[in-house]
Amino acid sequence: MFDLIVAAAGRGQRCGPGKSKLLRPLYGRTVLEWSVFPFLSEEGLERILVAVPPGDAETARVAERISDKVILLDGGATRFETVRNALAGVLADRVLIHDGARPFVSSRVIGDVLRALDGHGAAVPAVPLTDSVVEISNGCRPLDRSLLRAVQTPQGFHSGKIKAAYAAADGLDHTDDASVYLSLYQDLILTEGSPLNRKITRPDDLLVPDCRTGTGWDAHRLERGRRLILGGVRVPSEKGLAGHSDADVLAHAIADALLSAAGERDIGFHFPDTDDRYLDADSMTLLKETLEIVRKRGFVPENVAAEIICERPRLSPHIPAMAENLAGVLGLDAGRVGISATTAEGTGAEGRGEVVSVSACATVSKRKTDLSARF
Ligand code: MG
Repeated sequence: MFDLIVAAAGRGQRCGPGKSKLLRPLYGRTVLEWSVFPFLSEEGLERILVAVPPGDAETARVAERISDKVILLDGGATRFETVRNALAGVLADRVLIHDGARPFVSSRVIGDVLRALDGHGAAVPAVPLTDSVVEISNGCRPLDRSLLRAVQTPQGFHSGKIKAAYAAADGLDHTDDASVYLSLYQDLILTEGSPLNRKITRPDDLLVPDCRTGTGWDAHRLERGRRLILGGVRVPSEKGLAGHSDADVLAHAIADALLSAAGERDIGFHFPDTDDRYLDADSMTLLKETLEIVRKRGFVPENVAAEIICERPRLSPHIPAMAENLAGVLGLDAGRVGISATTAEGTGAEGRGEVVSVSACATVSKRKTDLSARF
């Protein structure tokens, strides 16, 4: 059993004025929520003590919605004071202490710390330094980085010992809980941290992919005398799809999914069927032009998926060629293009062989920082 203390009372001055860095948006939630989510799947988690700035209703509201296990506490004037106060609320025999601004912590890092506590009073994740380092206290002296480690959170402790260390320490010169612990005890082990488990300190620390998902749907009538083209592949069939362009219903649905993911209008808007330029047009070319529109918005495709509903002919033998064509045009690995086909079991217009329809979805992404909020 263990309790979790989340230090969420800092003001984050290095992140500049404006909203607290813990409330910055990240993948549709906040930095604080992502900093706690990975702990929720750990067995043995009893209480989550979240220390928030006194009177900060917004941070409190965000912390409370994370889990029923959350207990809100007032933070102190310093991180030392915040953690010392929070330790008074710890009832489990082990405690993990985590920064509210480390949203990229993984289950692996957490699990390693918890397991290491079986044989040690304290366990702390750390990573080797990749940059060269110098000491600047007296001129500029190179240090041997192989002897140095950057220390992360969550830091794990046997509760009685970390409480005793905090009670004995004076609060000066301690930037983390491990240094408080080491002022009284020595049985601390370093576990393997992760370069990804960085603390959000500056605006560009939140430079992460901004992913969006979109959907598309299209249907075309089957008629004699037309070719059946799906994903740029000519499929032998007695009937083909009718339309202004080559009626490649698969390419159209995927194009619409990409456009909607990027927040754009649909293909009917961009490539109107009243425009003679698109008469009998190769829809794979339209898909290429769609990709340019999406790119102008700053997005690139991550993956696309589509389901074709077609009673006959049987499409299964042609699906690998369709996926390869689409992947080539979209600049994706073939594994990121998922095409499936099904029949409608004789029901509806598809089932009667009058129509082929396709529903598709697409994910696009761009790298961005939340600069709009003057972070
Ligand atoms: Mg169409």
